[in-house]
Amino acid sequence: MTDKSTIATTFDADVIRKDFPILNRQVNGQPLVYLDNAATSQTPQQVIDTIVEYYQGYNANIHRGVHSLSQEATDAYEMARKKIQEHFNIAKSQEVIFTSGTTHGINLVATGFSSFLKKGDEVMVSAMEHHSNIVPWQMLCERTGATLKVIPMNVEGELIMEEYHNLLSEKTKLVFCNHVSNALGTINPIEEIIEAAHKVGAAVLIDGAQAAAHIKADLQALDVDFYVVSAHKMCGPTGVGMLYGKEEWLKKLPPYQGGGEMIAEVTFEKTTYADLPHKFEAGTPNICGGIAFGAALDYMNSIGFDAITQYEEELVRYATEQLLTIDGLKIYGTAKHKTSVISFNIEGIHPYDIGSILDKLGIAVRTGHHCAQPIMDFYKIPGTVRASFSFYNTKEEVDKLVEGVKRAKSMLE
Ligand SMILES: *Cc1c(COP(=O)(O)O)cnc(C)c1O
Repeated sequence: MTDKSTIATTFDADVIRKDFPILNRQVNGQPLVYLDNAATSQTPQQVIDTIVEYYQGYNANIHRGVHSLSQEATDAYEMARKKIQEHFNIAKSQEVIFTSGTTHGINLVATGFSSFLKKGDEVMVSAMEHHSNIVPWQMLCERTGATLKVIPMNVEGELIMEEYHNLLSEKTKLVFCNHVSNALGTINPIEEIIEAAHKVGAAVLIDGAQAAAHIKADLQALDVDFYVVSAHKMCGPTGVGMLYGKEEWLKKLPPYQGGGEMIAEVTFEKTTYADLPHKFEAGTPNICGGIAFGAALDYMNSIGFDAITQYEEELVRYATEQLLTIDGLKIYGTAKHKTSVISFNIEGIHPYDIGSILDKLGIAVRTGHHCAQPIMDFYKIPGTVRASFSFYNTKEEVDKLVEGVKRAKSMLE
């Protein structure tokens, strides 16, 4: 592996791009400009190789086989768990639960908390959540009679922290917030959110899905109770993710699904559950996906998160500046601390129409409400065009985006 410090100083997106075969393809006769990284990131050859090697070399079920292939697969899968543990600076490997992704992790916790909440308790979400971090909590409140409170935000797309502190009380049992908003790019002050929640005895779940590709979170330093991510937003495959939970919480929470692998002993009278992490990993998991998740972390760490963060900041600053030269263009989400997402509209033009013209030019952006309808309601808009960036994007691609938006504007006005 190459020394991190040399890479940081020689960070070169053009070299990095060679690791991503998909970036060579054409879309509608134009070179692909992929700016939908907030929906899913692209996959480097190193991760693709890991997947191919698994199926060509040691595909087997884990944790149960006496034979060599099963041992190899088990070792690789458990090694991936260790890599995740190290990457997020997690104290114990049994606090790392493999999931199918962020949504699965949130539902696991929300369902488990049903047995801890009662009428009169409060759970709090931020006003800028992804639907996957709203709906499970609404369902939890319906089941338990607890009340859902919302931390409001201002027009810049920042949480109003005074209001948060006012809303907190002895009644607050749980607080849920994303680390980075997928619709606005805001980096939320999660340190302050966690500390204040703990003062009133509430647990905190942070949705790190959007942050994980841009910011390396130190979960012990954060002292967070739960943190969830999806591998596919950080150069890994779809269908796999991580739920981190403090051991004390994971021990208390009931299992989410029953099945193989999660039991210690089964009789028709009574079943006892396996120890952590297996208690939450019923059935055959996404073995290859988990191993590839580990490879994705290796890949990103070989580039280095300092270099990634610095490069992306510069790219987003440049893109913001260039987009704002377009008449009538408005950016939603102008928080002081933000990363890698630019949501915008052009006055009088539907975002979908801009997105369609950009697609004809080979430029992939997302349009719509980005699974965050409450944010769109807040701004009284149907949706936005969202360009979201990764470390493999370039200034030339930003220029193509800006040209494309100008062209769309002249065609649609
Ligand atoms: C993508 C995303 C999710 C959902 O992730 P899945 O992989 O679809 O489960 C949740 N929250 C945020 C902030 C996201 O960006």
